[in-house]
Amino acid sequence: MLPLDLPGIDVINTSHDGQLFSIHAGCVGRPVGCVYCGSVSIVGHGQNNQEVMDLPHHGKFTCIHLKRKRYKCKDCSSTFFHPLDWINDDHRATTRFVDRIAKVSLDRSFSDIAREYGVHEKTIRNIFYNKYADVIDTTRFESPEYLGIDEINIAGGVRCCITNLSVNAGIEFLPKRTLDTLRPYFHNMPGKENVKAVAMDMWRPYRQITKEFFPHAIIVIDKFHVLKMADMAVDAIRKKVRADCETKRTQLKLKKDRFIMRTRPYNMNELEKLQMAMWRKDFPLLGIAYDVKEEFFRIYDAKDRQEAILRFKTWKSAIPEALKPYWETVFITYENWGDEIFNFFDLVEHSGSKLTNAYTECQNSITRAINSIGRGYSFDALRVKLLLAPKKEGIITSYRSIKRKKQQSDNHTIGFSLATNFNNDYETIQIPERRLVTWGIDLENLEKWLDGQEYKAYPNSMIDMD
Ligand SMILES: [Zn+2]
Repeated sequence: MLPLDLPGIDVINTSHDGQLFSIHAGCVGRPVGCVYCGSVSIVGHGQNNQEVMDLPHHGKFTCIHLKRKRYKCKDCSSTFFHPLDWINDDHRATTRFVDRIAKVSLDRSFSDIAREYGVHEKTIRNIFYNKYADVIDTTRFESPEYLGIDEINIAGGVRCCITNLSVNAGIEFLPKRTLDTLRPYFHNMPGKENVKAVAMDMWRPYRQITKEFFPHAIIVIDKFHVLKMADMAVDAIRKKVRADCETKRTQLKLKKDRFIMRTRPYNMNELEKLQMAMWRKDFPLLGIAYDVKEEFFRIYDAKDRQEAILRFKTWKSAIPEALKPYWETVFITYENWGDEIFNFFDLVEHSGSKLTNAYTECQNSITRAINSIGRGYSFDALRVKLLLAPKKEGIITSYRSIKRKKQQSDNHTIGFSLATNFNNDYETIQIPERRLVTWGIDLENLEKWLDGQEYKAYPNSMIDMD
């Protein structure tokens, strides 16, 4: 007899047909009562032939052909199937089959799994959405003080990720970065009043959404997105210089130019410094471009907003006419986003540089994690997988106002008294409350967690139960 471990049925016979292994079975015994009301007054009500998918046996797709009895309750008039707790009636499959699919669907593409388990891709999709409905619809974390909004390429599209920059945690992944997607998410986000600053790149919907939902938060443009524009301007100049070279021989002198032009002076080794000095002689435009870029980078050395604005103005006016067209994008960006770019300096004054680095760190952690997961997944599967990762927790103290009868000998041991008393008998006091909160996905350990997921490697496509 097969070690089926499926109580309540009796196997009549089994058959093999190509890839398919069929088990023909009927129900044994009789339910003790109505599954709805518990009444013992039940009568047989015919039977149905059901096909229930199970995990592969003997290396073949397995289907249980079950003659399943029906009953009718005389008291509540309900009809019901012979109860079998190992059948998942939503999916017409065994519970162990559904559990396995739910697990592997986080790790491999739906089409892949459909082929491997001999079911339609739609079945995999249904099991996935059913199993993770809670994660998909309702995952909510404590609102951050410093929020990051950024885009990321996941599953064939530009997506949006929301992060908590105070603690390097991931909060949410949205399928798109359009207003239609952002608005409902932020509308439902709890604790919006706690958000003090929002860091972002230069994408108008982010700014609009922040002004709508966090009217008091400072908008800060991520530093590295600003600096990237300078690298791009230099790149364009570099390509022009290269294209203007008369011979291949001259071009050869520009070996590694892209890399060296991007390197900060204090990171250059002796060889690179020598190379740079040579270029200054042979290709003066390159030397100037490098200096202009460096001067631009040094705006971020300013100690406050005022100094940064001054540095920017000085920088802009000192660019040689010949190079100005290459910096046009930067000029326009400062016209459109100048306020938010310079807000960076206010934020650093308030909170130090940790937060501004956190934006990049979060982005890098997520990118590395996505790369380690691999390709071929739906966005939803990736999102659920990320949201199932270990969370970062913390304890916060908040204050709750309560009104109480004034105590004569109040020594304020539990809270501090507010000045406004409504009358002489009552006072309002603030009670501190400590509570454990979940900030979001622990991005600092996300990659490590993904690497440790053992279900990555099923050695062969068939998993045998026997
Ligand atoms: Zn009943």
